[in-house]
Amino acid sequence: DERVLIVGAGHAAAQLCGSLRQEGWSGEIVLVGDEPSLPYHRPPLSKTYLAGECDLDELLIRKSDFYDKHAVAFRQDRVTSVRRDDREVVLEGGERLRYDHLVLSLGARPRPLTVSGSQMAGVHYLRDSAHVDAIREELSNARHAVIVGAGYIGLETAAALRSLGVDVTVLETAERVLQRVTAAEVSAFYGRVHREEGVDLRLGVQVEALEGDSRIRGVRLTDGQLIECDLLIVGIGVVPNVEIGHDSGLEIENGIATDQYGRTSDPHIYAAGDCASSYTSRYGRRLRLESVPNAVEHAKAIAAAICGKEKPITALPWFWSDQYDLKLQIAGLNAGYDQVVVRGDSSSTRDFTCFYLRDGKLIAADCINQPQEFMFSKRAIAQELSPDPQFLTRPDVDLRELLQ
Ligand code: FAD
Repeated sequence: DERVLIVGAGHAAAQLCGSLRQEGWSGEIVLVGDEPSLPYHRPPLSKTYLAGECDLDELLIRKSDFYDKHAVAFRQDRVTSVRRDDREVVLEGGERLRYDHLVLSLGARPRPLTVSGSQMAGVHYLRDSAHVDAIREELSNARHAVIVGAGYIGLETAAALRSLGVDVTVLETAERVLQRVTAAEVSAFYGRVHREEGVDLRLGVQVEALEGDSRIRGVRLTDGQLIECDLLIVGIGVVPNVEIGHDSGLEIENGIATDQYGRTSDPHIYAAGDCASSYTSRYGRRLRLESVPNAVEHAKAIAAAICGKEKPITALPWFWSDQYDLKLQIAGLNAGYDQVVVRGDSSSTRDFTCFYLRDGKLIAADCINQPQEFMFSKRAIAQELSPDPQFLTRPDVDLRELLQ
């Protein structure tokens, strides 16, 4: 039987198993992942799972009977290399598994903090359920947590820990939160909300060293200040897991490089999700994104390609983040924006939309507690609308009337 071998059992993999059968794949599907669990939803890890509101079973993307029904063989193991000439992968114990089509859906790993003391007990990362289990185990004794990094993971973690009554300090090198991903208006809003919720937010600061004996007791900043803590969580971004692709000679460009069908420089190998840098015709270049919708989109394109159909990656990127009572939904990519238009009042309310334009064209929107404006934005961006900025700000204008 022809075999699709999927390495990395995360979000892209779970989608791929179902999509392959939907597209008519009748051969074998073998899924190899190094985590003990079947694929689960990662987004709740920094939200409800950290807050103790659900268990891992509830986060499974598909229950185990789904894999039985679709004849997917799951195996917990780690792949250490790909032997392209023999169309085999090598497992940690030395065993080899053959493939006809190989899909690398390896995800990403947390970027490590490298200052002195980073190896101490009490220093945590947040990518896998095991990471969160380790944090939760320490929470009963933790009064003060420090979070390094005010990106989405850092801020979601801050919100979850505040809901548990933990004192939280967030340290960020940049002058505003979410600097890499949002406009100043949105950063200011999230900075204000976190402070209102009791987070001690320190911007423009740098960690010099972690202090303690065997266990962390505090964080020394480069300005000499010591912030005491009994728990530290690092959220300073991720590094894509490209090594086994790289070592086997696949083209790498920020991630494992693919064409618009998810195919790498080897026609028998595909790459999906956080580890993949995939050509996206909408943007005319390769993109490496870190989101569930991106992993799902890649998996659908690859399933079709393996079944001999052409369904290129075209969907408009989108993303979400939940913090406190705030549901942020992001449509499009704001890279290269030259104008920002805010609809609503970002300085005193908890719902508004920030539109991003380039050369007058709407390219992205951050919608905070505004699901309808998110729906509008997705369609308007896809239609490449160039709306009158004045119109976008006027509360009496029904935005849907702008759509074609
Ligand atoms: P993953 O889901 O990371 O799966 C990759 C799997 O491959 C892992 O299990 C890994 O252990 C395994 N693996 C790696 N190397 C090997 C190997 N050599 N052999 C065997 N197995 C291997 N996205 C959103 O859209 N919205 C959100 O709100 C959001 N919140 C998030 C919150 C957190 C805390 C995290 C960590 C992520 C969040 N994301 C969010 C991102 C989203 O979860 C990822 O983009 C998505 O999981 C990517 O799917 P993937 O299949 O590429 O990789």
